[in-house]
Amino acid sequence: MAGTTNDDRPAVVLGAGYAGLALAQEVHRRSRGRVPVVLVDRNPVHVLRTELYEVGKLASTGEDTAPWVVPLAAALEGTSATFRQGTVQRIDLPTSTVTLDNGTLPFRSLAVCLGSVAAYYGVPGAAEHTHQVYRLSGAKRLAAAILDVERASPQLSGERRPRVVVVGGGSTGTELAAEIASTDWRAIAGPGARAPDVVLVTGALPFLAGFDRSIVDRARRTLARAGVGIVGGYNVARVEPGRVALEDGTVLACDAAVWCAGLEAPAVVRELPVRHGRAGRIVANETLEVPEHPGVFAVGDVVELADPVRGGLIPATAQAALAEARIAARNLVARWRGRALVPFRYREQGVVVALGPGRAAGTVRAVPIWGSPAALLKRIVQRDYARATEHGESPTLI
Ligand SMILES: Cc1cc2nc3c(=O)[nH]c(=O)nc-3n(C[C@H](O)[C@H](O)[C@H](O)COP(=O)(O)OP(=O)(O)OC[C@H]3O[C@@H](n4cnc5c(N)ncnc54)[C@H](O)[C@@H]3O)c2cc1C
Repeated sequence: MAGTTNDDRPAVVLGAGYAGLALAQEVHRRSRGRVPVVLVDRNPVHVLRTELYEVGKLASTGEDTAPWVVPLAAALEGTSATFRQGTVQRIDLPTSTVTLDNGTLPFRSLAVCLGSVAAYYGVPGAAEHTHQVYRLSGAKRLAAAILDVERASPQLSGERRPRVVVVGGGSTGTELAAEIASTDWRAIAGPGARAPDVVLVTGALPFLAGFDRSIVDRARRTLARAGVGIVGGYNVARVEPGRVALEDGTVLACDAAVWCAGLEAPAVVRELPVRHGRAGRIVANETLEVPEHPGVFAVGDVVELADPVRGGLIPATAQAALAEARIAARNLVARWRGRALVPFRYREQGVVVALGPGRAAGTVRAVPIWGSPAALLKRIVQRDYARATEHGESPTLI
């Protein structure tokens, strides 16, 4: 334990997202407050990223972001973890030091939980001319942009409706397209606002690739009913202001474009001299420790982890991040105590994809659910997550 050595450096947790916050809270619980933790994030709040597809709600709340965040001060109250606000610029494993924009932090143990950023795969114009919902600031900007377009829509010529192109047919693109198409924009932008024409571009991948057949079929039907057009088969070749061009030469004119086509590890993670997997993620061993770096853990979207039970890789989801955080915290404390580490085994509770206000489709413990019960379940789980996290409890997500 810390008290038995002269080493007073803390355990440093980088990133207060789903993985980092849960990990910091769990280290406190497991060590009964004896392992000092410094939790670092650029924001003083934990962002509820799984709810950032709610653009209609984001548009109607103006500058208020309270429904999508949990203050870190509240979440860490009464724990051995202290919060340090700063942007991580460099992680130096040989000297066990983290460089922030406002100082340096030595560590005895480290958990890298810095999440993921949009991957643009070198598509010209994609980073410059599309919105994204991977960060709260980006989701707010998208909501404001659609609101502007909607407010201006009564002036459009003839029957023209504003068009929003969503790139990426995974769960984020699907949730977002359904949300934009089913939001009552007249209630937010004024009675003359015209309902947007939403196009979901799935690229070369099938719609909702990797999801259960029942979810894919229900999502497809719900999107069709909401008027979302699905364009598949070809990747995006380039994006220009007001135009998304596909590899087959199709050009989709639009009033706003959103990039939901993929994620990669942040640059500070990709620069680490450790083994990297797909999209720059850190390859960790089954205890979530980075090979050859005892006491250094990678958790959440930053990690590439084989799933020995189901085969393939553990998904990059908040649900998996929370489960990983519990084992990483246990192993971090075990390292301090000189005890054996345990392997991480993942068991997915379920998956529910939101399909517009009051609609969703998913499977929970392999049982299909859909419609308003599925939407209600997702809502309850999300609200319970936010409440439990704020009170330092051990929450779950689907
Ligand atoms: C719209 C949407 C819906 C989703 N829905 C679901 C769902 O229903 N269920 C599900 O399980 N998953 C869902 N996901 C996926 C889920 O959000 C991610 O898998 C999850 O956020 C990963 O957690 P994390 O802790 O690894 O990263 P994050 O939650 O992104 O946390 C990373 C943290 O690191 C901080 N950070 C990053 N870089 C720096 C830096 N350089 N310096 C300081 N701080 C930094 C960030 O501020 C952030 O707080 C959804 C994602 C999106 C975008």
